[in-house]
Amino acid sequence: MERILNYVGGELVEASAGGWLDNVEPATGRVYSRLPDSDESDVDCAVAAAGSAFAGWSGLPAVERARFMFDVAQRIEDGLEDFARAESIDTGKPIQLARTVEIPRAVANLRFFAGAIQHTASETHVTDNQALNYTLRRPRGVAGLISPWNLPLYLLTWKVAPAIATGNTAVAKPSELTPMTAYLLSQACRDAGLPAGVLNIVHGSGVRAGAPLTTHPDVPTLSFTGGTATGGLIAEATAKQFKKTALEMGGKNPTIVFADADMDTAVPTAVRASFSNQGQICLCGSRVFVERPAYDAFVERFVELTSELVQGDPLDDATQQGAVVSKAHYDKVMGYIDLAREEGGTILTGGAAAENLPQRCRDGYFIQPTVVTGLPADCRVNQEEIFGPVVTVMPFDDEDEVVGWANGTDYGLSSSVWTENVSRAHRVADRIASGTVWVNCWLLRDLRVPFGGMKHSGVGREGGDEALRFYTEPKNVCLRMEAK
Ligand code: NDP
Repeated sequence: MERILNYVGGELVEASAGGWLDNVEPATGRVYSRLPDSDESDVDCAVAAAGSAFAGWSGLPAVERARFMFDVAQRIEDGLEDFARAESIDTGKPIQLARTVEIPRAVANLRFFAGAIQHTASETHVTDNQALNYTLRRPRGVAGLISPWNLPLYLLTWKVAPAIATGNTAVAKPSELTPMTAYLLSQACRDAGLPAGVLNIVHGSGVRAGAPLTTHPDVPTLSFTGGTATGGLIAEATAKQFKKTALEMGGKNPTIVFADADMDTAVPTAVRASFSNQGQICLCGSRVFVERPAYDAFVERFVELTSELVQGDPLDDATQQGAVVSKAHYDKVMGYIDLAREEGGTILTGGAAAENLPQRCRDGYFIQPTVVTGLPADCRVNQEEIFGPVVTVMPFDDEDEVVGWANGTDYGLSSSVWTENVSRAHRVADRIASGTVWVNCWLLRDLRVPFGGMKHSGVGREGGDEALRFYTEPKNVCLRMEAK
């Protein structure tokens, strides 16, 4: 059985204590590889390796750092099919999604920040005729990067790329549920000759391998993407040492459809927003609000398109809905479907384990895409993040009402608004409390824009210049100008 290894100081190594964790294929429910059960001592070694590499790496010209990153990106692109297959097996997601969206996006992350670092400028401020201020932005040292299981390589490279482009070195801790593409990334880094210690990857559980990274005194920068409860623990742990911390956390994102929307685009996009990656994207729209005059027709078409989604073996090219990531997550999502019934909801389609799966997938964690109506905006199903293929649809009567409901959760990550009325589009976009508002689209991502959440969805922003700023320390240098 394949053994995934840590990547420390340029070497692929086992955990120092020698323990292993099982890695399960969600589509089959079977253990198919093992990963190191790393602990604090492995994190210490990785941080030491990153610390030793820092002076050399940060001292390289930006163009040299970029050259290594372009090389790694090219190797991932050349291995697209292997990476996509590995991601699909590890997560249960359709291979088509991994092949067309996620792995290309990992390549794009590396190329984008390798390019960005060669084009970035920093500010100057002239103080009348008294002084010239300029801002020096220097890398901060070793960055700790903790990423989740839903988009494993995509979100890992979203952090690694800006961290190392700006001259930091890094220690990453991917989710124990989905370590495989991080392992393939470490092999690509070795093959590209990335200097030892620039990127280190420590596999293992959140508590044994993640937590020591958050409290390590030699890791001044910490970027985390994951659940809000874990984010709270990390905020607490990092605050004590005044680490610079970015937290990208959960969401309960609204899709708001006004009656004047272009329904030919709105309905299929709302279906995609609800069920892409089995609803396991932090940006998925899990609450759909439809203006009452359009509600019945919308629901009919929405349910029709949802029931047409092809569920099956994630490795089959035709599959649109794969498995959810683990048995524990399967149980959690099914628990919310039960809760939806208890809270008085009506299940219009789905609501059960998937049927008619190929033999290979009979023990996998497949849930039918599920549409629920008849629930109030303040019930638990509409307040708590389910992070699975479950969406609620509700009618609304006016703009104030729907803005109130859209903003009426602890979360504020993203939203999607559908209307042909441009004034209303701007007004509603301004009123919604979320880090991203899409108008007449969903998941249209430009790597230059600020990305992050409001309220319990996040602290800080990543993406484009925001990421370059996050991973650097600004220092103002003030030069007095001689008066004539
Ligand atoms: P978790 O919070 O469970 O885990 C995220 C990462 O943190 C994993 O690597 C995990 O390791 C690690 N971790 C767990 N406990 C600790 C700890 N005490 N200290 C340090 N690290 C720890 O999230 P999930 O992996 O379940 O991901 C799903 C969540 O991520 C959802 O809530 C989703 O909304 C959110 N998300 C947010 C995004 C955003 O951009 N805002 C994007 C994508 C997802 P391990 O898995 O090994 O336990």
